[in-house]
Amino acid sequence: MPFKSTYPSINISGNVDLWALLFSDDSPYKREFPPTKEILTCPVSGQSYTWSALRDAALAFGNGLVEKWQWKKGDVLAFYTPNSIDTPITTLGALYTGATISPSNPLYTPHELAFQLTDSNAKALITHPTCLSTAIEAVNKSNLPLDRILLLGPERSHPQFQHYTSLFISRTNPQPPVPISPKTDLAFLVYSSGTTGLPKGVPITHFNTLSNLLQASSTEGRQFPWETSVQLAILPFFHIYGLTCCVLLSILSGWRLVILPRFDMLQVLKAIERYKVSFMYVPPPVILAFSQHPDVGKYDLSSLRVLHSGAAPLGRELIRKVWERVKVPVKQGYGLSETNAVVCCQEIGDWERRMGSVGRLMPNMEGMLVGEDGREVAETGGEGELWLRGPNVFGGYWKKEGQEGVFGVDDRGGKGWFKTGDVVKVDGEGNFWVVERVKELIKYNGYPVPPAELEGILLTHPDVLDACVIGFEDKSLATEVPRAYVVVREGVGRIPTKSQELVDHVTKQVAPHKKLRGGVHFVDQVPKSPSGKVLRRIMRDQAKKDARRS
Ligand code: AMP
Repeated sequence: MPFKSTYPSINISGNVDLWALLFSDDSPYKREFPPTKEILTCPVSGQSYTWSALRDAALAFGNGLVEKWQWKKGDVLAFYTPNSIDTPITTLGALYTGATISPSNPLYTPHELAFQLTDSNAKALITHPTCLSTAIEAVNKSNLPLDRILLLGPERSHPQFQHYTSLFISRTNPQPPVPISPKTDLAFLVYSSGTTGLPKGVPITHFNTLSNLLQASSTEGRQFPWETSVQLAILPFFHIYGLTCCVLLSILSGWRLVILPRFDMLQVLKAIERYKVSFMYVPPPVILAFSQHPDVGKYDLSSLRVLHSGAAPLGRELIRKVWERVKVPVKQGYGLSETNAVVCCQEIGDWERRMGSVGRLMPNMEGMLVGEDGREVAETGGEGELWLRGPNVFGGYWKKEGQEGVFGVDDRGGKGWFKTGDVVKVDGEGNFWVVERVKELIKYNGYPVPPAELEGILLTHPDVLDACVIGFEDKSLATEVPRAYVVVREGVGRIPTKSQELVDHVTKQVAPHKKLRGGVHFVDQVPKSPSGKVLRRIMRDQAKKDARRS
């Protein structure tokens, strides 16, 4: 039977866009902190922004986009940059103009970036000088003219490309230049592989994001008062988890957000001590680093109230280890790009009593568990694939790609259930546990790896007849790693150098998180269904058995 969130419902307006939510004085969601509150800090450049300085800079950028570049509602602004204090400014300034933001991984190859630029029909690209050569290569492969590249970062002059601040037109405009329809206009177009196939766009409306911000703010947000809360951000802002929980929720809540460009444990420890950080949103490998890094004991971490893990499974042993070592509770949450972003979230007080749970369903959401037989799971504590409905759930993939089977109908004919591809169980009090993933997706350090993409690349090698890529759990790294099972042509030696050659063949063509870190193993055949679909689950079970034996 479907079940509703155990939190009281909240009022979510269908008429408020994201700019208005975060910056308008007329919004029904009143800001509780003063405009002079410092909310963005960059330890690397020493820059910082108060709420009003952020609003002014974002407005100046938005005005420039409209007046100097004739920017229109729905134009797509792509991002290809490590985390920077300039990312929130440019993102919000573009949202003010009615633009759609399409962020991408700064480690993408030119081919991967060109795909996203073309598929999203991007009108401009914001990048960082360190990413520039790849960005130029990708832009040249796409339809975008080179003069639509904008740079961010502390260096404001460049011989060829404009810095985003060169577009600034300072003027106070309280209303967006065009009216935004929150329920249909897109705020973000992020990329995910969904339950199957190649990466595809996940369109996210203003209403989806606004809903999730209000859902998270009424639960998670209540635990961190703006007066004292400092968040350290190391999650990538191109991923829905970092974009929502680090950037947007922080600005809405008035927390101080300290931004590091990338994850480096020593810098994290230094920043916690220096800025008296109260909490962090992280993926499981960062929890592993807190349990293992040799320098953890050398820094004052007493300000840290909690670490919040999400994006991939986290075992109870690691939660215990971190508590024993640094006396910091680790709580968990669960979400997807398609649910933009948070579905469940633990409260701090629950971390020990319900260790391993990902918390309760966000307000205004309903869920349902569906068994392998396709029927609803009726009993409390039973397991099944999680189907979801709620104001934060997207309406279908970009260009309606791979749409079949994305949404389901319940036994009473109720439509619009998003099928997550994750098997979960729920206790009598509404606490969720993620049991396993039945979809194809692999997660390396919280980053999505679509197996079909790697199989496609392996099949371009002349020695490969067939391939199947699965996620293999590497406990020592607290993550899954992609592993390939390959059928080679007759006469090709099944030898370690051939296996390495195939690993290298993939490495050359993908971003680092997609590397075949779990190696290439040779098999006689890849299990397939009668319709020719690769049965990855059989290989996953086989890999688990092999691991237990060795
Ligand atoms: P993405 O769209 O990249 O955010 O990936 C979403 C997927 O990440 C989910 O469908 C889950 O398979 C996985 N995931 C997210 N959070 C958790 C978690 N706390 N525990 C286990 N898996 C998770």
